[in-house]
Amino acid sequence: MTNFRADLHTHSTCSDGTKTPEELILLAKKAGLKGLSITDHDSINAYESAIPRAKEEGIWLGAGVEFSTMQGSLSVHLLGYDIDIANEGIRALCKRHLDRRIDRNKRILDKLDRSGMRVDRTPLEEMWDRGVPIGRPHIASALVDAGFVPSIQQAFNQWIGDGKPCFERGDSITTDETIEVVHEAGGKAFLAHPHLMRKAKEAIALLDKPFDGIECYYSKCNPDQERFWVGIAKERGLLVSGGSDFHGDVKPNIPIGCSWVDQDTFSKIFTRNWWS
Ligand code: AMP
Ligand code: ZN
Ligand code: FE
Ligand code: FE
Repeated sequence: MTNFRADLHTHSTCSDGTKTPEELILLAKKAGLKGLSITDHDSINAYESAIPRAKEEGIWLGAGVEFSTMQGSLSVHLLGYDIDIANEGIRALCKRHLDRRIDRNKRILDKLDRSGMRVDRTPLEEMWDRGVPIGRPHIASALVDAGFVPSIQQAFNQWIGDGKPCFERGDSITTDETIEVVHEAGGKAFLAHPHLMRKAKEAIALLDKPFDGIECYYSKCNPDQERFWVGIAKERGLLVSGGSDFHGDVKPNIPIGCSWVDQDTFSKIFTRNWWS
């Protein structure tokens, strides 16, 4: 299939995206994509409704998830691909993230309260009770809705961005442990958007860990950066992945499919056939 394109990095309402998993499948189809992976933050809940819908629409759906991990003081996003979504270890890891996020969100909201910004917690609580691993983007959006800040960006810049007055790091789960869980679930661990890390040197050092691949194609990556990371992947015998990091209306300048991989790349990553 020469015109095969697959976006392997997208978020749904099961984390901080604005489109439901089923809407994502339809959007992917409309955008002319043949393959897709939904990589919600710390959640695989999208797959329950996405798998039957993808089958109906003829979209090749590769299982994926984007875990927030920490290596020392370094925040590392890790894409787990081709995992067995019924695997107990993966499910338990997602649950641990949900719990750590609930605890951390409460602490951030408490700090905001003390700074005179009391937001209505009910809609947020309803979301996390439904198992949505909500995070700072949701809180930022609540601050905008309550009129405390003019924009999501301002909420981060002034209050909840790293190191800002109402920031809380919360518990963390290491990159090492996450790679192990992904492997035990039969999946492949990819270093997500390395070009967004503070220093290329730090990202390259992480590749001494048993990663299987690198996300080399990304919406805001320029061709030089892409070539650089593809070169590193080749040098190390690692797989290559790519995707847009589509979030829907909260990041309107990133359309689905603006970054993608071809069929050969897709087939090297995904062996579990959820689409037929
Ligand atoms: P969390 O997982 O709750 O720590 O939230 C992390 C997410 O918040 C990231 O994936 C970004 O989408 C967003 N974010 C973090 N820092 C900033 C920032 N300084 N400006 C805008 N968005 C940010
Ligand atoms: Zn996100
Ligand atoms: Fe990320
Ligand atoms: Fe992402």
